Amino acid sequence: MDKNIRICIVGGGPAGLSAGMYLEQKGYENYTILERQDRVGGKCWSPYYNGRRYEMGAIMGVPSYYAVEDVEKFCGITHDGPKLNRNYKNAAGEVIEPFARTIGNIIRNPWMLKMKGQLKKFGELLETKYKGYDVNGHRGVAEGRYDGYAVTPGREKVEGFNPNLKDLALPFKEFCEKNGVPLIQKIWIGPFTSFGYGYFDEIPAGYVLKYLDFQTCMNFVKVNLWTWKDGTQYIWEQLNAHLKNPARLNSTIEKVERRDGKVYVTVNGQVEEYDKIIVTAPLYIPGTRMDGQKGMVDYFDAREDELALFSKIDYERYDVQAVLTKPEDHPEISYYVFDNMVPEKLGHLMVYYRRWKDQIDQVITTYALRKHKNSKEIPYEECRRMVQEDLKVMKNPAREVINEWSVYYFPHVFSEDYAAGWYDKVEAMQGKYDTYYAGEVMSFGDMDETAEYSRELVERFF
Ligand SMILES: Cc1cc2nc3c(=O)[nH]c(=O)nc-3n(C[C@H](O)[C@H](O)[C@H](O)COP(=O)(O)OP(=O)(O)OC[C@H]3O[C@@H](n4cnc5c(N)ncnc54)[C@H](O)[C@@H]3O)c2cc1C
Repeated sequence: MDKNIRICIVGGGPAGLSAGMYLEQKGYENYTILERQDRVGGKCWSPYYNGRRYEMGAIMGVPSYYAVEDVEKFCGITHDGPKLNRNYKNAAGEVIEPFARTIGNIIRNPWMLKMKGQLKKFGELLETKYKGYDVNGHRGVAEGRYDGYAVTPGREKVEGFNPNLKDLALPFKEFCEKNGVPLIQKIWIGPFTSFGYGYFDEIPAGYVLKYLDFQTCMNFVKVNLWTWKDGTQYIWEQLNAHLKNPARLNSTIEKVERRDGKVYVTVNGQVEEYDKIIVTAPLYIPGTRMDGQKGMVDYFDAREDELALFSKIDYERYDVQAVLTKPEDHPEISYYVFDNMVPEKLGHLMVYYRRWKDQIDQVITTYALRKHKNSKEIPYEECRRMVQEDLKVMKNPAREVINEWSVYYFPHVFSEDYAAGWYDKVEAMQGKYDTYYAGEVMSFGDMDETAEYSRELVERFF
C-alpha cells in the first residue's frame, strides 16, 4: 500500500492510539486520530484525587501484555504502580478463605484436591486438544482453524487446522462441563465475571480463553500483575504525546460517507477527505447511550452487510462507583465477593478495589454488572443503591460517591453467532469499503488484546 495514504482512525483509546503507533512504525505518517472526548485513553480513565490517580476503568496488566510493552518501550515508561493484593468476603460481609490452605503436604479440603486435578487436566487439554486456542482474535475458530500470532515474547505467526477449536463457541460453562473440568470455573470467575465480562453460562469460551489463557489466569492466581503509578490512562497519554500526530480531541463525527474509493468524514461541521478509515469506536449500540455514545452504523453510511452483522453485538452494563469512606470504615485491602458473581445476584457488588497501601483517605472503586442474557436489565439507579447497601454489609460503608459511570463494556456476540462464523464474516469485510474494524469486539475487551489486534491489522493490511 502507498505509504502516503490518508488514514482516519476513529477513537483515541488503546486500539486507536496503538494503531497510530504501529502505522507510524511501518512508515505511514499520514494518519489522523479523531477522539470524541476531551482526553485520550477511552476506558483507561484515571482521574485525580488528592494528587494521586485512581482507576475508573482499566487497572492492571500481566507480564504477557506484549503490545502494552511495545507502547511502554515506545514511550520509555514502565509499569511502576502499587502492588495489587486482595482478600475474599462472603455476601454477609465475613472474610473467608475460598481456596483451602495446605498443611504440609496434606490438603484439608477434598474439593480443593479435585480442583487441582481438574486444573492440571485443563492445562494439558488447552495445550493439546485445543492447540491454537490462544492466538489473538477469533479468525477461523468457527471453522476449526487458528490463524494469528502466538502469545509469546516473539509473537510468531502460527496457523493450522484444529476442528476441536469449534468448541470455543460454547458458553464457557458448557465448555468446561464437556471437558470434565467444571471446577476450574471457580478460578477463572474472579478475573472474568467480577471484571465485568459477563457470566459463564452466556459468554462463549473463545472470549474467556483468549483473555484468560492458562498462563494469564495463573498470573492472576499468583497476583503476578502490573499496575501504573499514574494509572492506565497515563500509558495512553504518554503514547499520544509521543505520536507524530496526536489525537484530535473533542472531535464530533457527524457523518461518514464512503464513495469512489474515498472516505468523507464530517467532523465538527467540516468535511475531511481520507483514503481509508479504521474504526475502533463501538460498531453497534441499540439507540444512543446516556453518555451520548452511538454505534458506528448510526453515523456511517452503513451497508447492509455491516448492519446485519454488527446488530448481533451485545455489550455489558458494567457500573463503577468511586467512593470515600470514613477512616474507621476504610477497607484494609481489596475484596472479591464470589457469592455475588452469579446471575441471581445481578446488580450486587462483586469486587471493590483499594489501590494504595499507605493511605486511609483514598478512593475505593466498586464494580457491578446489571445485565445477563436471560434476565431483565437492572436500572442504573437501582444497581447504584444496591452496591451502596452491599458496602454497608461489607462493613465498609461509603460516606460519599465522588465519581461514577456505567460503561459501554466488552462488546461481544453470543454462541449462535460465534459458531455461525460471525468473526470470519467480519474479517472478510476488512477493507471492503475502505474501512477496517478494530477495537474490543474484534479481539477482547482488555488493553492488550485491543492493542495487539491493531498491531495485527496494520501487519495484515498496511
Ligand atoms: C471498569 C473497567 C475495568 C477494566 N479493567 C481492565 C484491566 O484491569 N486490564 C485491562 O487490560 N483492561 C481493562 N479494562 C478494559 C480496557 O480498558 C478496554 O478493553 C480498552 O480500553 C479498550 O480499548 P479500545 O480502544 O478498544 O476502546 P476504548 O477504550 O473504549 O476507546 C474507544 C475510544 O473511542 C472514542 N469514541 C467513541 N465513539 C467515538 C466517535 N463516534 N468518534 C470519535 N471517538 C469515539 C471513545 O471516547 C474512546 O476514547 C477495563 C475497563 C473498564 C471500564
